[in-house]
Amino acid sequence: MSKAFETSLDTKNFAIIDGYAKAVSVLSRSYTPLCSISGGSDSDIVLDIIHNVDEERKVKYFWIDTGLEYRATKEHLDYLEKKYGIEIEHIKACKPIPTCCREYGQPFLSKYISEQIMRLQLHNFQWEDKPLPELLEKYPNCKIALQWWCNAYYSTENGVVQMSRFSINRNKWLKEFMVANPPDFKISNKCCEYAKKKPAKLLIKEHDADLEMIGVRKAEGGIRSASYKTCFSESKSKGCNSYRPVFWYTDGDKKVYEDFYGVQHSRCYTEYGLKRTGCVGCPYSAKVNEELEIIKKFEPDLYTAAQNIFRNSYEYTRKYREFQKMMKRKTKESKNA
Ligand code: SF4
Repeated sequence: MSKAFETSLDTKNFAIIDGYAKAVSVLSRSYTPLCSISGGSDSDIVLDIIHNVDEERKVKYFWIDTGLEYRATKEHLDYLEKKYGIEIEHIKACKPIPTCCREYGQPFLSKYISEQIMRLQLHNFQWEDKPLPELLEKYPNCKIALQWWCNAYYSTENGVVQMSRFSINRNKWLKEFMVANPPDFKISNKCCEYAKKKPAKLLIKEHDADLEMIGVRKAEGGIRSASYKTCFSESKSKGCNSYRPVFWYTDGDKKVYEDFYGVQHSRCYTEYGLKRTGCVGCPYSAKVNEELEIIKKFEPDLYTAAQNIFRNSYEYTRKYREFQKMMKRKTKESKNA
């Protein structure tokens, strides 16, 4: 039993004790493990756990430079390397975010929505509010995106039929907004693919890795954590397994861990007051305007860069939010009339 695991028992926190036991077990079965470091707070805890249980020092750490990163994150990576005596390999994005946005389009609202809009734009869709069969005839190779546009997907939760998250109506008045205001700029979800996913996949191949570790928590919510059911996924093709050491940690468990092990996060949290790090000013963030105000104050060059890269998306989102408010007001007025 590792010393770190024995120490973890002192916390009396089940998520931490259980997490350490699992980390020891998963790592003991891996020969070529890779650990992704983002510089964010979850990743800080993952690194602390993994470094504590990696007695053979076989884990390789890497960080992907998406081309839109905080200065504070880069400083934090230097701090982590010194603190743990490790090397964090800096990997360049296959295509940095600014290039992706220029070439393919800007992200808007969410990954899924951006993907469907991108598909429709590729088919020169005219943003028509017509029935699905009619649209399928006009745009025959665009079925999934048209099903999203026409609200063809439903889900059942507790016996209640609801609009699925794969339907446009899940985002209130988005369809009405887009019909009235067709986007005049390219929208795409490609920056996640070229700036984040592909470089990680290439690295796994290059190192012939049998295990990839990332800092995803169930409690963080959103599509990223929803795409996993548990902390470990076995590769179907005997390739690289995936392990999420803090998957079951609540916010409370995180706090206990940070205090118990003295984990220090980056200045993005401690000085800027950001709640999350990740890509600077990503339009998917529900709190992007608040984040931009903070970025403007602490890293003004990055603020200017984000404004240039995501300008159309920010503007279109702002217009959509105003449209939502206007529709809400109108609905209320017509109910009261
Ligand atoms: S998180 Fe946002 S900015 Fe970062 S790569 Fe994905 S879409 Fe682009």
